[in-house]
Amino acid sequence: MLRFEDILEEVERFLPRFDEDMLRRAYVLSAHSHRGQLRSSGEPYLIHPLNVAMILAQMHLDEVSIATGLLHDVLEDTPVTRERLEELFGKEVAHLVDGVTKIGKFEYKSKEAQQAETFRKMLLATTDDIRVILVKLADRLHNMRTLEHLPEPKRRAVAAETLEIYAPLANRLGIGRMKGELEDLSFKFLYPEEWRALNTAIDERMKASSASMERVRMQLSQEMEAAGVRAEVTGRVKRLWSMRQKLIRQAIPIDQLYDVLAFRVIVESREECYKALGVVHQAWRPVPGRFKDYIAMPKANLYQSLHTSVVGEGSLAFEVQIRTRDMDAVAEQGIAAHWKYKEGKLDPRLDEKRVAFLRQILETTREVKDPREFLSSLKLDLFPDEVYTFSPRGEVFAFPRGATPVDFAYRIHTDVGHRCVGARLNGRLVPLKTPLQNGDRIEILTSPVAQPSRDWLTFVVTSRARNKIKAFIHSAEKDRAIEVGKRLLERELKKSGRRLAKLLDTKAFDPHLAELGAARTDDLLADIGFGKLVPKFVVQKLFPAEEEAGAEGKPEKASGLRAVVRKILPFGGSGIRVKGDNDLLVALAECCKPVPGDDVIGYITRGRGVSVHASACPNVKSLLVDPGREIEVEWESVKDHSFTVDMEILTEDRKGMLARITKVISDAESNIQSIDARAMKDGNAVITATLTTPDRKHLDRLLIAIRGVPGVTQVRRKFHTHRPAVLPGPGAGTGPEK
Ligand code: MN
Repeated sequence: MLRFEDILEEVERFLPRFDEDMLRRAYVLSAHSHRGQLRSSGEPYLIHPLNVAMILAQMHLDEVSIATGLLHDVLEDTPVTRERLEELFGKEVAHLVDGVTKIGKFEYKSKEAQQAETFRKMLLATTDDIRVILVKLADRLHNMRTLEHLPEPKRRAVAAETLEIYAPLANRLGIGRMKGELEDLSFKFLYPEEWRALNTAIDERMKASSASMERVRMQLSQEMEAAGVRAEVTGRVKRLWSMRQKLIRQAIPIDQLYDVLAFRVIVESREECYKALGVVHQAWRPVPGRFKDYIAMPKANLYQSLHTSVVGEGSLAFEVQIRTRDMDAVAEQGIAAHWKYKEGKLDPRLDEKRVAFLRQILETTREVKDPREFLSSLKLDLFPDEVYTFSPRGEVFAFPRGATPVDFAYRIHTDVGHRCVGARLNGRLVPLKTPLQNGDRIEILTSPVAQPSRDWLTFVVTSRARNKIKAFIHSAEKDRAIEVGKRLLERELKKSGRRLAKLLDTKAFDPHLAELGAARTDDLLADIGFGKLVPKFVVQKLFPAEEEAGAEGKPEKASGLRAVVRKILPFGGSGIRVKGDNDLLVALAECCKPVPGDDVIGYITRGRGVSVHASACPNVKSLLVDPGREIEVEWESVKDHSFTVDMEILTEDRKGMLARITKVISDAESNIQSIDARAMKDGNAVITATLTTPDRKHLDRLLIAIRGVPGVTQVRRKFHTHRPAVLPGPGAGTGPEK
């Protein structure tokens, strides 16, 4: 059984001075807190952290990493807290153990390759210290080495996850040895039959060939010596998983498996690498197409080496890898080899540029063949601007930094976006504009009657969400405008005894569309509804003979805009009826959402009809600098119509506050379209809600009722100040998009 002293001995070998006391204390705490716990094998649990620490020591990591290895399971499995770890071992160890615990909770469920890549990137993005990943890899390696103790289904799941997530991660970090071992162990547990067959085939192949591994190794050594190249030669049987992949790739049956041996020649300099290659090619016949120069063109994980395959005695083919000692360290230890030791201490932050550079390499998704492409991908990744999040089903989604639950909702499905009313991040209700963080689990709350809000455009960051919201708003507005346009045109036509339905049936508008600047009849009707085209003008275009008769009517002048619009209702309301010569589309302003009973002012927008604001709306003043645009409006008395209002409620941050307020609102028979709660630093909370109300009277009663809830300190209707993206001011000239 592995002892703590073995680990100390291993560390002494590469770190002449180190904090032995800290490691000893970490060991004591780990032994104490895991006391009585057993592994599936029946052995004491402590075996596991000891082995993880040993793997980290063998990777030549610093004592902080090794202490983290000893303590990596105490937060998850024992009563020890993060605060306690910080007291005993300092911020760094506590931070690393916490990081390992955090990523241990991410569950990988998907079977898709795309998801695996995103999941790996998420693991990398979740931590600010790469040592967290290295400890996690060591943890996984030991668990894989002891996997036979787990029951069969669990075993397969862990092996599959290792193959899809952790082995590629080790590869990305350039830790070749760990990648190889993780793959072979996964292979053994995932495809046991296949593994056994391949293993047997290799044994037989070795027996059949006259030349043993040792003889080839000796001969390679001698050839090098004779040519004056100082080299260290080692041999091994190739990794089973990589052999299996090759058999599949090249569609070869097992019995035709030939190069099962691989030799490594370690030399002193780059020049000697090429010299050694010449020696190998002179002594044995190279297999065409198998030479690779990763020295001139390093792999994305910085791996450098010359690879060649040659055919020896008895047609035994073998692979030779030639590299310098430094290159070998990079190949075997990966990222750890890039770090410098200063005064016997490894501090990844000593050389931030180097670490930043490495991080980028880690994040490079593909192995890049072309060195220029390699460089450009490095540059791209220099801006780590993505966040990785989970759906409730465990799927991982990457987003640009700053993305919000609304972006997430639209990624799931357009309808989820359109119907989204709220979001839970990690189980907690949050405002829809909350920026997502790495590892967040997001649940979208939807309602069948909800609709996208124009306001969302001010905070969504993905173009998908932006486009879907815009398209929805546009098409909804256009639908309403077409309806209004129809009615306005209908009325104009009536004056000359014509019927719109008939003209539409006979496609009477078609010959005039281009002239009127519309592509289809619907566009023409929408233009009329939006107030861009005057119905009378359209009728005159269609029936020019009546132009004179038309001229007898009242002239269309800008002053006419001051006519009174008597009755207003929101679009799509049952009876929108507009009086006066200037028939314009009327909409309640989104910023103040007036309700019947409010004093209102109409404002003629460019291309979007009349916008009706509450007189109390803070935007009114700035909108009406242009006096020609003001228009008088009045409420029509209506029944059974509901209007939406935004409300802001300031409360003490008490438990159950939201529930009590929700109850008062529903008791008042008001529907909640969305509600968000946000705790403030001062111990208060702000609740914002969008509710329905039939009129001002009802709303005033509701405000009083909410004010009466214990803990509520303030209630008010919320008026939004204009931002250009929400509602254009005069002169912004944003008509509906075509
Ligand atoms: Mn563990």
